[in-house]
Amino acid sequence: MNEFVNAFFKEMYLNNPILIILAILAIICVLFGNRIIGYAGEFWVRMELKKLPKDYLIINNLLLKYNNKTCQIDHLVISKYGIFVIETKQYNGYIKGNDFDKNWEQRFKKKVYYLHNPIHQNYGHVQVLKEILNLEESIFIPLVCISSRAKVNVKSKKVVLLKDLLDTILKYSDEQIMYYREIYDYINAVNIREKKEKKKHVVETKKIANQKKKENINKCPKCGGTLVERTSKYGKFTGCSNYPKCKYIKRY
Ligand SMILES: [Zn+2]
Repeated sequence: MNEFVNAFFKEMYLNNPILIILAILAIICVLFGNRIIGYAGEFWVRMELKKLPKDYLIINNLLLKYNNKTCQIDHLVISKYGIFVIETKQYNGYIKGNDFDKNWEQRFKKKVYYLHNPIHQNYGHVQVLKEILNLEESIFIPLVCISSRAKVNVKSKKVVLLKDLLDTILKYSDEQIMYYREIYDYINAVNIREKKEKKKHVVETKKIANQKKKENINKCPKCGGTLVERTSKYGKFTGCSNYPKCKYIKRY
């Protein structure tokens, strides 16, 4: 059998080395697809931010420690007009959400998924920065940048598409921070760069996500309410306790 496989690949390689390369690329994409897509999103945002005038100071992939917890921020743009806290998201399909809901809805390949509202995630980042820098919240401008081609139906000033990112940043023209270079230096000094710490953060984040998944089994993915059993004329079903405000129904 092995011999046969070897002979097959040898034959294939001799005949068409490009085919082998394509096969290897395909395997890499299947194994690391999500990670590659994530990196690509951050890469495009990086490229876009580079086009800003020189007095906009940029820190990418920032890791901060606060209250024994770590906090990862995709991009920080520090300027005299404010500190932009940017979270990059690569979504597929159709995205619907707003500022307030706990989760956003994603429709992709005829399935519905619920995504943790990235505006809330970014709000947490602003709180950490505010505490570390001892600055007022009004100085921070949180932005969720969607860098993919997803159809986005989110009515929020805090969400921008990649193509609108620079215009959005440049629209802020009131000078409000004098010592923005000092802030940049300070953040760079407290930014954790050790690979070990970065890995620890990834492990911690996964742990927290798993924990949350367990806690959320009996919760409405749409609004966070409790799921309850109800009876309709068609039989029993599981719905949200916040009905009629929330119309979520669990599908099996
Ligand atoms: Zn609900």
